[in-house]
Amino acid sequence: MESRGTKRGAGKIEEAEPWNKLLLPASSLPTDPALYVGPFPFYRRPSELGCFSLDAQRQYHGDARALRYYCPPPTNGQSPNFDLRDGYPDRYRPRDEEVQERLDHLLCWVLEHRGRLEGGPGWLAGAIVTWRGHLTKLLTTPYERQEGWQLAASRFQGTLYLSEVETPAARVQRLTRPPVLQELMYMGYKFEQYMCADKPGGSTDPSGEVNTNVAFCSVLRSRLGNHPLLFSGEVDCIDPQAPTTQPPTCYVELKTSKEMHSPGQRKSFYRRKLLKWWAQSFLPGVPNVVAGFRNPEGFVCSLKTFRTMEMFEYVRNDRDGWNPSVCMNFCAAFLSFAQDTVVQDDPRLVYLFSWEPGSPVTVSEHRDAPHAFLPTWYVEAMTQDLLSPPKTPSPKD
Ligand code: GDP
Ligand code: MG
Repeated sequence: MESRGTKRGAGKIEEAEPWNKLLLPASSLPTDPALYVGPFPFYRRPSELGCFSLDAQRQYHGDARALRYYCPPPTNGQSPNFDLRDGYPDRYRPRDEEVQERLDHLLCWVLEHRGRLEGGPGWLAGAIVTWRGHLTKLLTTPYERQEGWQLAASRFQGTLYLSEVETPAARVQRLTRPPVLQELMYMGYKFEQYMCADKPGGSTDPSGEVNTNVAFCSVLRSRLGNHPLLFSGEVDCIDPQAPTTQPPTCYVELKTSKEMHSPGQRKSFYRRKLLKWWAQSFLPGVPNVVAGFRNPEGFVCSLKTFRTMEMFEYVRNDRDGWNPSVCMNFCAAFLSFAQDTVVQDDPRLVYLFSWEPGSPVTVSEHRDAPHAFLPTWYVEAMTQDLLSPPKTPSPKD
């Protein structure tokens, strides 16, 4: 997306004086899919830099203790019969969604590993650090017609950090979430419990609690165009039988969806859901998504594996389908827009990028609370590094 100048804002900025054009970053970014049609941009094969886990109390651990193992039911001609409502609500411990964690757990990992990141000294200073889920939202933006988003951005020691802010509309939706939707969220996690064991070769235990505080997160390195990326995403499980045991290739994403009975239902599934599934798994290089299809009674009676790299085939010939190039080109254009906008290096300065369907992405500037999101413990530890350069490691290190 080098020709940003022609693709961006057909508005007033085009009539500005040449000096104005050269010195001022664009004030908005359009999201119309037609503007992002083109060759697929460069996307480095994602490699895993490390991982971390969050426990039942949502406490961080710099290891894989929360990783679970893919354990599908035997394929002996019988269909599965998973009751996704079982245990609701008595064996459900939902995460407290009022707690805004922002990038904190990922920053904890970065702090712990900053001295030994691959890519050499200075790699982090040129990178963008964020959650996989935030990038997923960027990828699907050109096709999204319902939910807007806000992303806060700060530059610190060169690195650009992106952290989502819950929009007022999303907050209202969350606080007024109808009981059926709350139960549907539980059902998605319950499916994971039916499909995963705590140990390789172990068995599943659907009698236990569903605690959504627990998470295993992979930390990945990639690059989109000229934007080096360090991001983390929650991984559902590892397949101990996968052809390669090298992450992220051995990871499996689990999803549930309504059973489909008509061509119209299938078309809508391919257009909407597969786009989200593709974006989420393509980014970290997770090769397979295993879907459990639930009937109206909430039982999963069939499973289907979708290969991430083949999902586009379902919409390739659909005029109203999605196009992976458009998703990735838009994401690259947004990252360039953000890089050009967030020029000052200051962890207390925040640029808030806001988007609503049908409009371009706009940006506003903020200082300190409530939008500043880089925690003091992170900024101070990283600043100490610059004041006292690392000593020669002792033999014990
Ligand atoms: P996803 O792709 O949307 O599932 O999000 P990520 O994999 O990037 O998850 C990043 C972190 O955010 C992990 O610690 C998740 O447990 C957490 N997370 C995932 N979804 C949500 C959510 O809806 N709300 C909040 N507050 N955190 C979430
Ligand atoms: Mg999942």
